[in-house]
Amino acid sequence: MLGIRKSPIDKLRTAVGGDKVDTSITQRKLYSYDATPIPVERAIPSAVVFPENHGDVVKIVEICYEENIPIFPRGAGSGLTGGAVPTVERGIVVSFERMTAFEIDTDNATVKAQPGVITAQLQEAVEKVGLFYPPDPSSYKYSTIGGNIAENAGGPRCLKYGVTREYVLGLRAVIGKGKIIETGNPVLKDVAGYDITKLFVGSEGTLGLITEATLKLIPKPPATATALAVFEDLETVGRAVTRIMTSGIFPSALEFMDRDAIRAVEDFKPAGLPKGAEALLLIEVDGTQSAVREQIEEVGRILEEIGVKYEVADDPSRAQKLWSARKNLGPALGNLRSGKINEDIVFPRTYLSEALPRLREIAGKYHLLMVVFGHIGDGNLHVNLLYDKSSREEEERAERAVDEVFELALGYHGSITGEHGVGLTKRKFLKWQTGDEGYEILKGIKRLFDPKNLFNPGKVIDV
Ligand SMILES: Cc1cc2nc3c(=O)[nH]c(=O)nc-3n(C[C@H](O)[C@H](O)[C@H](O)COP(=O)(O)OP(=O)(O)OC[C@H]3O[C@@H](n4cnc5c(N)ncnc54)[C@H](O)[C@@H]3O)c2cc1C
Repeated sequence: MLGIRKSPIDKLRTAVGGDKVDTSITQRKLYSYDATPIPVERAIPSAVVFPENHGDVVKIVEICYEENIPIFPRGAGSGLTGGAVPTVERGIVVSFERMTAFEIDTDNATVKAQPGVITAQLQEAVEKVGLFYPPDPSSYKYSTIGGNIAENAGGPRCLKYGVTREYVLGLRAVIGKGKIIETGNPVLKDVAGYDITKLFVGSEGTLGLITEATLKLIPKPPATATALAVFEDLETVGRAVTRIMTSGIFPSALEFMDRDAIRAVEDFKPAGLPKGAEALLLIEVDGTQSAVREQIEEVGRILEEIGVKYEVADDPSRAQKLWSARKNLGPALGNLRSGKINEDIVFPRTYLSEALPRLREIAGKYHLLMVVFGHIGDGNLHVNLLYDKSSREEEERAERAVDEVFELALGYHGSITGEHGVGLTKRKFLKWQTGDEGYEILKGIKRLFDPKNLFNPGKVIDV
């Protein structure tokens, strides 16, 4: 007797348990977008699946591979380039929010974490035992370790300590057909063969699903100090950055805000920033008490030499206020215009003095408000083009300006993204950066891990 063929969703329910597969329209709609501020192609998935362990993930991938169902992995959905957004109706979202276990190995200074662990929670726990996990995307209070690894997330501290990739020692992941790969080891040195761990970092869910990561930890620096430098022109900012970065001091953060960023954040939540200034730098140094004192004095000397006014935030509450002002920039910009395109380009540091004024020229050419801030110490700038969403003409001007912003970054041998990834929104620009040969290699790698193109299809590259 012939049996009735089970639907793929029923197969998933039987394999992992009905309570882990949600097909309600409310949930399917809720999981059909992320934090990307501009409209992107988007579809309602056929189900949202919540694996609770590695075994569940293997079963999900096996069934999806048998049934040709696209899989859209998701951490907290805080991505800014549409990475977690489903693009086809028959796909499923795999949300890692129930995989939140982690275990610290203090003697080896490592932590083994499931992908759904919230970054801030992991950081707090390791700091309680005197250790430190530096990668600090501004979304650290809600983004997940899995999402951070998939995007190779960074933040202010990554100038000194390196981005997420530097901290991933090993991964457990499920790739095409439900095959399991275990990459790397909890050791600091390992040169055995091609580095698949690092290849997976930043792959934006297109190569497979990460189910566990072994992360490196370092000792927590005991002290920090912050200085605020105020500028009357943009050219001097580039000079100050180069001078500080070549002085032998290695700041733990070196952040930039232009005049409109300063005004926006002061209007949003006043922090005592100089509203009339052309730009400012927030400079943080860390280490032992005595090292911190010496370094911040040296920063002061450099700024004096080039004629820049500065303040050292001696009182910790003043330092905290300055850093909260920096963190408030995202919501503050939301108050300026209804539409925002937020790009995160990178320039080699030596070109900053030239590039900053040229960004202003692009804004002028397209009659747009452009607000620039970011991690200037590593050349990574957040360029925000603001426009009125109700005007299609203004939106088109913003899109044309973005093309020129990317051309500018690539013209100076920089990058189209330092943190937010390619996802959906920057797919068309990736080839500009890789060239044809490089792009073919990326496609070949994708096929090797995911021969049926079912992991996050439509993201990063066109296969
Ligand atoms: C206000 C705000 C500030 C931000 N600031 C920063 C910043 O300073 N620096 C920075 O780098 N980013 C920043 N971001 C962007 C975003 O927070 C990061 O990209 C973050 O790493 C995404 O994590 P998530 O858990 O939300 O992942 P999601 O957005 O859910 O997913 C991101 C990508 O990871 C993939 N993915 C998720 N989990 C897995 C898994 N287990 N296996 C395989 N693939 C997976 C998804 O498919 C998607 O492609 C910011 C975002 C917001 C909203």
